[in-house]
Amino acid sequence: MNRKEFIRLFSTIPLLGFNMKLSDLTTFSESLPVTEVMPVLFLGHGSPMNAIEENEYVTGFRTIAKTLPKVKAVLCISAHWYTSGTFITAMAKPKTIHDFGGFPDALYKVEYPAPGDPQLAKQTKDLIKKTNVGLDNDWGLDHGAWSVLKHLFPKADVPVIQLSIDYNKPASYHFELAKELQSLREKGILIIGSGNIIHNLYKVAFEKINDNFGFDWAIEAREKINTLLLKNDFKSIVEYEKLGKSLQLAVPTPDHFLPLIYAIALKRENEKMELFNDKLLAGSLSMTSLKIY
Ligand code: ZN
Repeated sequence: MNRKEFIRLFSTIPLLGFNMKLSDLTTFSESLPVTEVMPVLFLGHGSPMNAIEENEYVTGFRTIAKTLPKVKAVLCISAHWYTSGTFITAMAKPKTIHDFGGFPDALYKVEYPAPGDPQLAKQTKDLIKKTNVGLDNDWGLDHGAWSVLKHLFPKADVPVIQLSIDYNKPASYHFELAKELQSLREKGILIIGSGNIIHNLYKVAFEKINDNFGFDWAIEAREKINTLLLKNDFKSIVEYEKLGKSLQLAVPTPDHFLPLIYAIALKRENEKMELFNDKLLAGSLSMTSLKIY
């Protein structure tokens, strides 16, 4: 595999989903019953091939799924829905989007037919005061969502909506916006950020493509972020650009990092955080994932 093929394979450039339907302004209804507080997940999704391969990361997703209470619906913030403005998928039947190129046919044949939840989409839109959220009927489920959800909910029987990431806004904005989603956790909604904390495709070590190998800067970046995560120093994580050269290399573009910001913004003071799949891969990627509960 050459460099170009690999970059295509990993399909890191998010497709841009635009949909400017901003007209639906329904009143927020408290129709969902109160449940125990749902955990929050951040999942390092890595290669789309994780959707169909058996490996330690997939095992990690399945293991964490077994620890979850009954989930009424999923709200996923994926690195691969990176838009101008903020949108929520509002269709009843989201399509499976194969937003990558150069993969085996088997991956294009994967369908993840989880239903949408138009009512939850409207309620979530109404919860968010920071911006006018558009209800989207064009997107669906991108691979940042379905490649991991497939392992969490293999029967595709849990409704899923996606919230897009506004690429015009800084991490601090996303941190504040995410906090507005907090009450959904009391209504059986599992919020999942799907990205990768360390994600530099231009520095990948091709000769160690499947190895748990990290360059020195990746090792340093992982240690810095993990230490801050476990210290609950989220302010420093939001200001990751001030964390030095290792973080600049780890996060060359914000798309795969921002889903982490959504997850940590939702951690309550008395809650715990557990890291899993905490491995470096191919020199310049990490699969580190976490559960807040
Ligand atoms: Zn990705």
